[in-house]
Amino acid sequence: MENIDELKQFLADRSKNIVILSHRNPDGDAIGSSLGLYWLLKNMGLEAEVIFPSEYPAFVAWMPDADRIIICDLEKEKAINTIAKADIIFCLDFNALDRIDPMEHAVNESKAFKVMIDHHMYPEGFADSVLSKTDVSSTCELIFEFAELLDKQQLIDGKVSDCLLTGLITDTGSFKYNIYPSTMRVAASLLERGANNDFIQEEIFNSMAEKELRLLGHCLYNRMEILEELETGIIWLTKDDFEKFDIQRGDTEGVVNFILKMKKVRIAAFIKEQPTIIKLSLRSKGDFSVQELATRYFKGGGHKNASGGYFYGSLKNCMEKFKKAVKSQMELEKQI
Ligand code: 5GP
Ligand code: MN
Repeated sequence: MENIDELKQFLADRSKNIVILSHRNPDGDAIGSSLGLYWLLKNMGLEAEVIFPSEYPAFVAWMPDADRIIICDLEKEKAINTIAKADIIFCLDFNALDRIDPMEHAVNESKAFKVMIDHHMYPEGFADSVLSKTDVSSTCELIFEFAELLDKQQLIDGKVSDCLLTGLITDTGSFKYNIYPSTMRVAASLLERGANNDFIQEEIFNSMAEKELRLLGHCLYNRMEILEELETGIIWLTKDDFEKFDIQRGDTEGVVNFILKMKKVRIAAFIKEQPTIIKLSLRSKGDFSVQELATRYFKGGGHKNASGGYFYGSLKNCMEKFKKAVKSQMELEKQI
């Protein structure tokens, strides 16, 4: 990690304003890494402000000080002013500034020392110090490594461990995929430090509202299309569905993964019609890279087997474009 000594010096100065940012639609890893770092810094005697572009899902609301997070969509002026005053900005679980949408300009303008800690492919070069690896499970795993780089691993207490274990759990589908030897070592260490695995698993996986489970039923029964020849499955939701089922942020988390439960499916898309854009959540098994597909056709990115992107236009056109994109990429695959 370059410029780590400079960063250490910055952190030794208690007067610095520290801001922690993560991406739009923050997931378990985004909030886990942000609050994990926030509590680690607190244990070092430092205060930080955590800012997200949009709200976090209800299943992570239990995290200590989650209610102190500034949500830019709800308090834009406060978010922008806090960024303007920052001396150090941590950018966690994203590596492209368009992922923090309404704050992109403020971060670009800021003269603060910027630190990127992230596990997505192809990082942009906006940070002064970068801890970017793709062979880890999650940004939470990298926060653990970052604590070691700072020589502060002894300050990873139960609270920090709960936050970090959350990101390991959510980004690996509860230790099913995206696992590296380091992931298990970090998980073991977090348990030793007091992380409450049973509690976290319950909060994340067994706290659905009835309407969410019914919505899942609707998705699987009425909104799923299987394209056998492309080994692909699509679930889509219309704006009307969002109203009818009173869908809130986080309610559709994980729906895309159900498509992959079929052996015959290798590629899965969950396509949501939102007020101004169409949002795509993409997953794959094996070598097919949805990261390439998302980057090439949907202005997005992420990881080889889990990516996302967006589309301007109608839901129908988006679905057509997605099908064509899969076909083209499969043909390319065959040529290689
Ligand atoms: P999800 O489908 O769970 O929203 O996202 C899966 C992965 O794709 C995450 O790692 C996320 O960071 C990435 N991702 C989702 N949407 C976008 C997007 O619009 N742009 C980029 N660059 N990455 C995205
Ligand atoms: Mn992540």
